[in-house]
Amino acid sequence: MAGRDLRARIQKDLFLLDGAMGTQLFARGAEPGQCNDWLNVKSPDIVMEIHRAYFDAGSDAVLTNTFGANRYALTRHGYAGKVSEINRAGAQVAREAAGDRCYVLGDIGPTGDFLEPLGTLRADQVRDAYGEQVRGLREGGIDGFIIETMTALDELSLAIEAARSAGGGLPVLASMSFDKGSAGFRTMMGVDVPTAVAKMVAVGVDAVGFNCGTASLDEYVELSEAYVAAARSSGRKVQVFAEPNAGKPELVDGRAVYRVSPTEFAAACGRILKAGIHILGGCCGTGPEHIQAVAEALKT
Ligand SMILES: [Zn+2]
Repeated sequence: MAGRDLRARIQKDLFLLDGAMGTQLFARGAEPGQCNDWLNVKSPDIVMEIHRAYFDAGSDAVLTNTFGANRYALTRHGYAGKVSEINRAGAQVAREAAGDRCYVLGDIGPTGDFLEPLGTLRADQVRDAYGEQVRGLREGGIDGFIIETMTALDELSLAIEAARSAGGGLPVLASMSFDKGSAGFRTMMGVDVPTAVAKMVAVGVDAVGFNCGTASLDEYVELSEAYVAAARSSGRKVQVFAEPNAGKPELVDGRAVYRVSPTEFAAACGRILKAGIHILGGCCGTGPEHIQAVAEALKT
């Protein structure tokens, strides 16, 4: 661990995360609808190749291939009993690709269900499920946690609490997904930016962020400004991070297609950096070529 202190590192200059995982897996033969997370166990060589491609492109950190590796999301694929194994394997393969110098963030995504009273999940069960994932990731040797693509504050808070209580003191980054509508930026569950940031800061995170969503590149810059303002008025020192998609998706034959070029993506990241966010990566539609363009344009 010597020389690798994520909490100190994210306070400094540009810290580049990776881009999308799913599309890279599909490009290497994974089939849509199958369990991507199980590939950590079944085909770790493919996952390793993708992590390496991102480090080669200039990423300082990669996210483990464990976005859906909680017991609720895994149940849909029949792997509910494999939570520990999948997370440990995902962390190990990323750690091996990262070596001693680069960073690994243990990726935690939504359950895919709602908590009571909207849905059937109970808070103690969800906290327990995230705790199980957190312990698996830790055993595999990560440097911190990244909780992503959340839309509901109750579920997000439980994931943060689990990462803080079972995470061995490792840093926690947490992120929600926003779309821009007539009421401004809101998550699917109606949460606005000031409310999201205030809640994440109150539960206790090292960095607050946004990822995914359906914004255009200009709207992501606007969202960045809103986030930085909300973080400043939170009264606590908290970093902000951004993982935009490669622009607004277009629906072609029922599939989302992202047409933003690496150069255009890097230009938008330059504007996001100017807005005050130095922890940057990409979500849907971004690949190693986008990360490389960002590294070339913004790394000094
Ligand atoms: Zn995405």
